[in-house]
Amino acid sequence: KRVEVGAEVHGINPDLLDERAVKVVKTLADAGFEAYIVGGAVRDLLLGMRPKDFDVATNATPEQVKGLFRRAFIIGRRFRIVHVVYGRGREHEVIEVSTFRALPTESEAVAGNEKTAKAELDGKHHAVDASGRVLRDNVWGPQIEDAARRDFTVNAMYYDPQRRLVVDYHGGLADAKAKVLRMIGDPETRYREDPVRIIRAVRFAAKLGFELEAKTLAPIKASSALLANVPASRLFDEMIKLLQTGHSLASLAQLKKLGLARGVFAVLDAMLTETGDLPEGKRGSFLRQAFEDTDRRVNEGRGVSPSFMLACMLWHEVLDRWTRIRAGGEPAVPALAQAIDAVFDARIGDISGRGKLAADMREIWMMQTRFERRSGSGVFSLIEQPRYRAGFDFLRLRADAGEIDPALADWWEDFALGSDDDRQALLAEAR
Ligand code: ATP
Ligand code: MG
Repeated sequence: KRVEVGAEVHGINPDLLDERAVKVVKTLADAGFEAYIVGGAVRDLLLGMRPKDFDVATNATPEQVKGLFRRAFIIGRRFRIVHVVYGRGREHEVIEVSTFRALPTESEAVAGNEKTAKAELDGKHHAVDASGRVLRDNVWGPQIEDAARRDFTVNAMYYDPQRRLVVDYHGGLADAKAKVLRMIGDPETRYREDPVRIIRAVRFAAKLGFELEAKTLAPIKASSALLANVPASRLFDEMIKLLQTGHSLASLAQLKKLGLARGVFAVLDAMLTETGDLPEGKRGSFLRQAFEDTDRRVNEGRGVSPSFMLACMLWHEVLDRWTRIRAGGEPAVPALAQAIDAVFDARIGDISGRGKLAADMREIWMMQTRFERRSGSGVFSLIEQPRYRAGFDFLRLRADAGEIDPALADWWEDFALGSDDDRQALLAEAR
């Protein structure tokens, strides 16, 4: 049932709204379509938080939406949406506009096979695989169905900024108030349709400090085996999101609590102990500091790079392999390169389109050997490298965690910041 709630009840602060999102809604409404701010943005607004991005939902088709804006692009295959773009460069902002989706029907969920992937092309059926996972979701429908196919009740509300009304079909308002994360519909079926919802549950619980409602929680562990069917690149993206919400340690704790710390993400298998904890001692404190730094940056609204975080997460495995290869008589630099290759193979695999990420991680790690040499022209070329800052931050983290002598990090910091004279003195001192 559709419930409309006015400003005196929902109390959304209009100052937290994004002008551009409001403009998109107005443009669509003026053209005669229904349009609302939707999903995570409404949830965050209700919690008094400024949403980091705004999504809009409408009954206009992607083509109709595209026709109303000067810079609008239809993107996605599995899930077609329109990106409406404002501004340029650093100031640019993207509002995602999605068309109301129909619910997948019961028969599609059970009948899934190769043929259903074709059936979707007529625009009336969803493509579903043999396990019930929805492969494509581009069937348009009414708002009530659009709400029902969203994941959690708190993510399924609509906000009309002009009339200042929240539209709620699933009791999201009450759940937001009670800080409860509740799956819409039958949780087990919903995890089967899209196992990534399991990881989303972890992310929202950690980020919002919500409790998982009992029925939402119950099938999680058993359903987690289905994550093996999710394309590696999507799972990888979800892991990155999970750890870059500004609540990375809470997310790891939540994974452990749900029994998902091990066996789901190869990168976490490399990093966590068998009990799903961070390792003891220096290694643990290195990781803890890396996550705390990441969280601090996210919460200050600064950028964080997945490559730096991943380089931290896999560092100890690189170190262990490096040590082993060197013990076999291989010189330090080629031994490190081999160790890195082995860790990529074992933990990242070949995720296409990640060339830049892998290159950045490799560079951060390879720089660590170069920091050990404080003489020759290599010292000057090192600080001129575009990725020097990331390599140095990594060195500093190792020093702070007690892995290396802090004097080495101090030396590089002084050298990079110093005048020519300072640098000559530092080089003489290192000799
Ligand atoms: P965040 O603050 O992290 O962006 P969000 O709720 O906005 O959280 P998005 O991934 O941006 O999350 O998705 C936007 C909305 O789309 C969600 O709020 C939810 O309604 C819907 N949604 C996204 N992913 C799924 C999914 N896997 N299954 C069902 N609904 C989904
Ligand atoms: Mg969002």
